[in-house]
Amino acid sequence: MTEHSYPHSHVFYRKLRRTFPLIVRGEGCYLYDSAGRSYLDACGGAFVVNIGHGVAAIGDAMARQAARVAYVNGTAFTHEPVEALAAALASRAPGDLELAYFLGSGSEAVEAALKLARQYWVERGRPTKHKILALVPSYHGNTLLALSASAREHYRVLYRDWLVPMPRVPAPYPYRCSCRGQGRLCAACSGDALEAAIRQEGADSVAAFIGEPIGGSSTGASVPDPAYWPRVREICSRHDVLFVADEVLSGAGRTGTWSALEPYHVTPDLLVMGKGIASGYAPLSAILAPRRIVDVIAEGSGGFLHAQTFSHHPVCCAAGLAVLDYLDRHDLVGRCARIAPMFHAALEPLRALPHVGDVRGRGLLAGIEFVDDKDTGAPFPRAAHFAESFADAALEAGLVVWPNVGQADGTNGDLALLAPPFTIKAHDIATLVTRFRLALESTVAAVMSRS
Ligand code: PLP
Repeated sequence: MTEHSYPHSHVFYRKLRRTFPLIVRGEGCYLYDSAGRSYLDACGGAFVVNIGHGVAAIGDAMARQAARVAYVNGTAFTHEPVEALAAALASRAPGDLELAYFLGSGSEAVEAALKLARQYWVERGRPTKHKILALVPSYHGNTLLALSASAREHYRVLYRDWLVPMPRVPAPYPYRCSCRGQGRLCAACSGDALEAAIRQEGADSVAAFIGEPIGGSSTGASVPDPAYWPRVREICSRHDVLFVADEVLSGAGRTGTWSALEPYHVTPDLLVMGKGIASGYAPLSAILAPRRIVDVIAEGSGGFLHAQTFSHHPVCCAAGLAVLDYLDRHDLVGRCARIAPMFHAALEPLRALPHVGDVRGRGLLAGIEFVDDKDTGAPFPRAAHFAESFADAALEAGLVVWPNVGQADGTNGDLALLAPPFTIKAHDIATLVTRFRLALESTVAAVMSRS
């Protein structure tokens, strides 16, 4: 039997020192490999599979579209799936975000949204507005402009000379903030730090601010104070800075509302979506934009300067449309909101375990932060590779989690993120917690024996 590891296969694997289980089937929250093992997919792959694995209706819709017309050039033609999906996303989006531009990945959509912000200011006759402000910690993707916006040092280090400088604003991250999330006057947690950064750079030079409404892998499901995003919105409007909300991870219902900004009653100028909108059945992302921005370009140059062969792709849009239909027919965003209290109540006791510093999140998104010292919150040294060892131990226990590192200070810090399909049942949540505990016990034992 072929071993699925480098160099035994022709695949240039994403990890070159790992043997990969060969997944042959997915159903609901579970994945099955060729050796007959099952895995509870507690992070929907990478925060993607919101409706669960193996929904035949989505594949059927894609096949029908591919048989009818698989591809047309988006500069020459339009087609039914893109028209219908754009209308469906516009009807769900907050405020005046009525227009949808489709791409494949979150990185591409972030990249394009930042370019759109720049083009908008140039065509409005304000070409000095070119800087992008971004949070730290943050993650917006791995293409070079998206990586420039990301405060993710281990991804950036090799490419630093190619990245665009983006002034940093401290992210609202209560667990690691000196105010512990209690400080109404804390610059990071209140949003005042953004105002200071805009003043420092000069509003005339700032095109946009980008942030994740609820922390994704960067701050591990940290939920900002209810006053935070209204304050950011007010600051951006007052300084003529476009507010770009990166909902690639938190959007599409993941936090119990279609947009994670809904409970904040805030409309961004541009909303970026990805991952969950096609639930992993096809690569699909979108920028949602208002007419007040697109009109400027329509009346100016006449088109957004961002050409990609596969934008507005018929089969990917058909997948997105079928996923939205499935979410609606099964009321899955409502289910996500309804099951969330039980999910978080089941996770809460993990807080008492050794080396669990914090448990947090909203909807079916949770972050469990691991620390060396629970009293001080001191992280493990990076060399311990705690998060990675935990994810390996979890896989061994039949549980797929998302490990994340570096959030404490750019280098150190260990997290496990959970984002199960919205169809997860109470008994699956119990299984998840049991396997999580087992994995943590064996990780602590292994890390301690190495130190
Ligand atoms: N933005 C956020 C908030 C993300 O979490 C991610 C990916 O994890 C991206 C952007 C990049 O998306 P992709 O990996 O699809 O390029």
